[in-house]
Parts: sequence; C-alpha cells; structure tokens
Amino acid sequence: MTKTGAEHLQSLRDGREVYLDGGKVDDVTTHPAYRNAVRTSAKLYDFQAHPDHVEYMTFESPTSGERVNRCWQLTKSYEELVVRRKAIAAWSRLSGGWLGRSPDHIASSMVGQVMGLPVFERHSPERAAALWEYFQWARDNDVYMTYVIINPQAERAKSTGEQPAEYLATGVVDEDSEGITVRGAKMLGTGSIMANEVLFANIQPLKPGEEKYAISFALPMNAKGLKIMSRRSYEESVTTAYDYPLSARFDENDALVYCDDVKVPWERVFIYRDPDTARAQFQDTYAHYMQNYQAQIRLMVKMQFLVGVARRICETIGTIGMPPVAERLGHMAAQTAMVEGLVYGMESGGGEYNGYYVPDRNLMYTAQVLTQQLYPEFITSMRELAGGGLIMLPSSARDFANPELNALIHATQKSATGSSEEKVKFMKLAWDAIGSEFASRHAQYEMFYAGAQFVTRAHAFRTYDWDQAAQLVDSVLDSYSLEDELDRGGASLAAE
Ligand SMILES: Cc1cc2nc3c(=O)[nH]c(=O)nc-3n(C[C@H](O)[C@H](O)[C@H](O)COP(=O)(O)OP(=O)(O)OC[C@H]3O[C@@H](n4cnc5c(N)ncnc54)[C@H](O)[C@@H]3O)c2cc1C
Repeated sequence: MTKTGAEHLQSLRDGREVYLDGGKVDDVTTHPAYRNAVRTSAKLYDFQAHPDHVEYMTFESPTSGERVNRCWQLTKSYEELVVRRKAIAAWSRLSGGWLGRSPDHIASSMVGQVMGLPVFERHSPERAAALWEYFQWARDNDVYMTYVIINPQAERAKSTGEQPAEYLATGVVDEDSEGITVRGAKMLGTGSIMANEVLFANIQPLKPGEEKYAISFALPMNAKGLKIMSRRSYEESVTTAYDYPLSARFDENDALVYCDDVKVPWERVFIYRDPDTARAQFQDTYAHYMQNYQAQIRLMVKMQFLVGVARRICETIGTIGMPPVAERLGHMAAQTAMVEGLVYGMESGGGEYNGYYVPDRNLMYTAQVLTQQLYPEFITSMRELAGGGLIMLPSSARDFANPELNALIHATQKSATGSSEEKVKFMKLAWDAIGSEFASRHAQYEMFYAGAQFVTRAHAFRTYDWDQAAQLVDSVLDSYSLEDELDRGGASLAAE
C-alpha cells in the first residue's frame, strides 16, 4: 500500500541515531539541517497517490493486490519498462533531478537482485528466501531504502582485510540462532536521514579469506547501535531559501554509517560469509544495471533542467543572439539529447533475463562512462556562458528589505529579459545549480556515485559486443590477401 507524505514523516520519528556538529539530532523532520529535504521526500509520496498520477505511478502488488509504487515492478515487457521509466522521471522532475537517492534508486537495485534470485539460491536457499520475503515486504509497505555498498576510503591499495583496523569495514563479530552481530563502517549513505531502511552490501571485490566482510543485510535506520554520521548540512548553512533554492530543499545528505555491534536477525541476512556471492549480488544479477538505469533516467531530467538554466542565463544577460553562444547551447542541447537517447536505447535494445524484460546493459554502462565525464564539462560550459553575473548579486534576499539597498539593486541589477527581482531570483538559482557547495557536491556525486572512472570503463569493456566488432574487422581482412596481391604482381586494388 502506498503511504502518504505525513505517514512518511511520522515514520522518520523513530529514534534513529543521527550525529551532526558534535551532537545527536533528536528529530530529522524538524531539525534545521534536514527538515526541508525530508519534506521534499514526503512530497514524493503524496504525488504518487494523487488521482491524476496513481495509474502510471503505481501498479497492483501481486501479493497484497493493493497499489504500490512502480519502482518495485518486475517488468515483463518493453511497455512495462517504459511506464516504469515514466514514473521514475515524474518523481525526478519534482526536484529537477536533484535527488540522487530518491526511493526508486535502491528499489531498482532490489528489483534487479530478485530478478536474479537463482544467484542467491545457489549460495543458500534460506538466505535467498529471506531476500525474497524482504523484497515483498519493502514493496508492499512503500519502504524508502538507502544503501551502503562501499567500504570506507582509507588505503585503497590494500584489500578490505588488510586495512589498518580489523573492523574499519563492516564485518561479522558473532552469530547465534537468532542472527548475526556486525561491527564497522560503510560509506556513503546518501539519503540516510530520510530513508526507512539501509541495505549493506559489497560492490568492491573481496578475496578468499575476507569472508567476515562478505555479507549483505538490511537494517531499519533506528536499529540499536546503527550510527549515522552526517556530513555538513548545506540546507542549514543557507542564508535564505530564496538565495539557495536547491540547497535549501534538495540536500538529501550523505552519511558514513557505523554499526556499533548491531544485531541483525537471520530473516534480514541475504548473503553470509561468501565473497563470490557478494560479487555476484551486483554483477551476476540485474541489480547494478537496474539501479544505474534508474540513475540515468534521473540524470536525464537533471540535464534537461540544467540546459534550461544554461539557455536562461544567456537570455538574461543578452548573449542568446550571439552565434558562438547559440553554437555552444546547441552543443549542450545535443549532449542532453544524447542522455535522453541512451535511456530510450537501453529500453528498446533491452531483452529477456530470467523471464523479465530488462534494459540493455552495455548501453547503460556507455551512459555511465560518458555522463560521469560529461557532467563536470557541462557545468564548466555553464560557467563559461555566465561570466560574473552569478556573483554580482545581492548578498541575500534581506537586502531587498532595506529601502536604500532595494533602490540600488533596482539601479544595478539589469537584464535583457525581466525585472531586477526576476534577474536576481534566477541568477541565484543558477549559482546554486553550478557554483554553490551543494552544486559542487553534485559534481562529485555524478562523477562517483556509480564508481570511479576506472570501474565504469572496465564494465563498459566487459559488456561491449566485441564479437561484432571483431567480425567486422575480420570481414574486411578476409576481403584481401597477400597471395591475391602477389598474384596481381603487386598492383593495388585501387589501381585496378
Ligand atoms: C556524493 C556521493 C554520494 C555517494 N553516495 C553513496 C551511497 O549512497 N551509497 C554508497 O554505497 N556509496 C555512495 N557513494 C560512494 C561511491 O560509490 C564511491 O565514491 C565510488 O564507488 C568510488 O569509490 P571511492 O570514493 O572509494 O573512490 P576510490 O575507489 O578510492 O577511487 C578514488 C580515485 O582513486 C584512484 N584509484 C583508486 N583505486 C584505483 C585502482 N584500482 N586503479 C586505478 N585508480 C584507482 C582513481 O583515480 C579514483 O578515481 C557516494 C559518493 C559520493 C561522492
């Protein structure tokens, strides 16, 4: 059953241990560091239940028969995948694409995992059953999940088991008939403050002998001993929401999470002491493809937003009619359309996997490789188009309230298109998208959320259709030979 925004807010008042600025946060729904972002997440739930949206945003749960969000749908056809994408894009448009880990991201990962349930069954029928039961429960209760699948950055040249502390990465300390006890950290739980549950897993490879880290399980965010070490809040640091409209509302936060001897019941343990299945969880199921396909849909929306901002900058400062500016905008429009085209290509080029219809995996990795490089380039293009107008702005909205400053603002903030207020309002939005600390964190996010470049490029290498490329090379090589050339007495084909 889908939940309402109010129910989501209520679910976050659960005693979770969030730490910020030297203290524990009592209530994330009211704390100035998080309350607006949390409210943004609640709006997603109200949106899906609206009569105008319910048909495409939700589908009938095969177990409860009630409507549940489409992000949990195990798609069986191209048409289902497309409707599911429309639901993901509609949610994403509510924030202009600025929520990276909205509930549909990890739900997509879970969908990909259960599509590959036989991978888990090979490891252990009990653990696979736990995953399947958990999936159905999360789907039918509209659970907002985050995940932590990377071990803390300490010494990357060493493997997980060789790190300076035995429990730097989350590992098993004990087990009994009820479950396991885990200790240690994971990075980087985006959205931890506003999620209900967190999935622990390993996307980085583990070696034989590192079994204690080779685990996957889910915890409620208020699990006893689960500590959420929040990064600095951009939401809290803004002067006003008018000055930083994105930071103030869409700062989903990121957190290092630490398990201080947390007890995990067996029904929440999906992989136990098995490095190969820990790898297979993402690489041999459709998890990695589905989670990052969702991410590319979200990025498509964000690029559409950003290219709109880029054009508006040029209109505002009166450069839009200049041929080199139009040329640059044309290039950026093409880059945006490329991201859109890759999403559509993933869908139309998709195929069957264990009876489900899934997006094309190589095009997904192609999109990842290209967009993690494209994003910072795109931001640089926007900066180049903007010049100093992004900085030449009143210090805050409060300047408008001072009559003397107000007059000066009107005398100095001129634009090619609108009033002084309109210019200031828009340019502050543009700065928050491309230059603020929030914007800078987003550049880091788009460059890394799916793995560093050497990782995504390795996936693209692994999944590309090299046979087709090799056949083309061979067919040309086979069309001429040394013997033929010598028979012709060395006369080239071109000369014949
Ligand atoms: C804003 C943000 C939000 C995130 N949110 C989440 C989240 O919600 N959940 C989650 O699990 N993770 C999250 N992450 C983590 C993300 O998945 C990782 O940042 C990413 O996988 C890269 O890992 P790393 O940061 O440890 O970088 P590293 O793997 O340490 O790489 C850093 C750099 O070191 C070099 N390098 C390292 N190893 C090698 C190598 N073997 N060969 C060549 N070069 C190498 C490369 O230059 C590389 O770019 C988030 C990250 C960011 C920035």
